[in-house]
Amino acid sequence: MAIKHVIIGGGTAGWNAITTIREIDGGNSEIILVSDENPYSRMVLPYYLSREIGESHVFTASETRLGQLKVETRLGRRAVSLDPNANKVVLDDDEEIQYDNLLIATGSSPVRAPIPGADAPGVHSFWTLDQARQLAAELQPGTRVAMIGAGFISFTILDSLVQRGADLKIFEIAPRILPRMVDDTGAGIVAKWLADKGVQVQAGAEVTSIEESGGAKVLKFKGGPDVEADVVIMATGIKTNLEWLEGSGVEMNAGILVNDFLRSSESNIYAAGDVAEGLDCVTGEKAIHAIEPTAMQHGRVAGANMAGVETVYSGSLLMNIVGVLGLEIASFGSWDDPEAEVIEAVQPDRPAYRKLLFRGDRLTGAIILGSEGDVWTTNDVGILKGLVHSGNELSAWKEQLRKNPFDVKRAFLATGAAAALLPKTLLGRPSVPERDIAVSS
Ligand SMILES: Cc1cc2nc3c(=O)[nH]c(=O)nc-3n(C[C@H](O)[C@H](O)[C@H](O)COP(=O)(O)OP(=O)(O)OC[C@H]3O[C@@H](n4cnc5c(N)ncnc54)[C@H](O)[C@@H]3O)c2cc1C
Repeated sequence: MAIKHVIIGGGTAGWNAITTIREIDGGNSEIILVSDENPYSRMVLPYYLSREIGESHVFTASETRLGQLKVETRLGRRAVSLDPNANKVVLDDDEEIQYDNLLIATGSSPVRAPIPGADAPGVHSFWTLDQARQLAAELQPGTRVAMIGAGFISFTILDSLVQRGADLKIFEIAPRILPRMVDDTGAGIVAKWLADKGVQVQAGAEVTSIEESGGAKVLKFKGGPDVEADVVIMATGIKTNLEWLEGSGVEMNAGILVNDFLRSSESNIYAAGDVAEGLDCVTGEKAIHAIEPTAMQHGRVAGANMAGVETVYSGSLLMNIVGVLGLEIASFGSWDDPEAEVIEAVQPDRPAYRKLLFRGDRLTGAIILGSEGDVWTTNDVGILKGLVHSGNELSAWKEQLRKNPFDVKRAFLATGAAAALLPKTLLGRPSVPERDIAVSS
């Protein structure tokens, strides 16, 4: 009898697991995909909001393609409970599905600030395609948009809102903007850049309620004047989708704890993507990295192991990269490590900042900011990511960087970071493009 794989969640992690299983087994197993939404990538939603891409470009797999890959689907269905002893998942229509291998790839969901008015009409989250559709429909040139939260997700849609002609104001409760992505110096540079471009961003601003007045929303603040808006966006954080696993016995912390094979505490249950707490390649600790590259890598490694090709994962690199109105902002690895030795510099004549964090001779974290028109910014984003990811000892080059933290290219070349990274492939061999994966009938 063919082995039966059940995948819960059709986002980046689930879809990459499916294609990897099919790449390996050519159709020689049963796959059932249970997903609340049709497979798509959330990362492209900002481009849908700006109307740079149409809705059809958001999806990663059509039902036709899933059929070609011999994937049986339960789309629009949710898993509501799991019984690992009986190898069984129960769906929201009471269907029970047996599995040999299960992948949990249920991702995360947005969390709204717990204030009165947070759930009123006209208050949006921006996480799913449905939410993107609703927000896109409400935007007109001149629409007054108040965005609560100045973190990564808020910044991924900032350009789209400006492109759509929104009159945008952003409020952040923390003392600085991008509090989980850059330090005080970086946040100061971003805030000045945005102010110069006419976008109002206020840190240390606590919204206490959202009220209605004459068809408009009125944001009330702790110790500040009211602000009127037509549309409110809450980008106030996310949480992992674990509720349905309560009582299942699968070991969880903030996410599902997985080993280097992406296996959970149950040997035939895997977890991948935002929902999984797996190895961080810099710290060696377990962490949730709720980013697209981790979801893709987790999905592929879990898929390979589910298909019987034993594959060890070397861990994910935390990386946050976002551009706002021509300013590139990125941080990698342990960018906020209080124990690290720090080398940093700001250019006096242009918005450019480099912060390098060392443990011994190893670069374990970095922050980089600069204009996208400045060729060194784009180059150095890749170089710093490579240096942190390779983990190579920088030895004498560390002193060179101390003299000039902007001169990262020579250290990258001299220490062989590229040579260390190039032979590294996720599954130990070149990947097959998704469109070339074929299954036997
Ligand atoms: C606007 C936006 C911009 C982003 N930009 C970037 C970026 O630039 N770079 C980056 O690295 N990351 C970005 N991200 C984050 C990235 O999209 C996530 O890390 C990624 O989607 C995680 O993939 P996943 O497969 O783990 O989960 P998801 O993509 O969340 O997929 C999970 C799927 O499971 C389904 N599901 C949930 N619970 C159940 C259930 N009980 N039963 C059945 N199905 C269920 C959901 O409906 C969903 O389809 C962005 C996210 C957003 C929202």
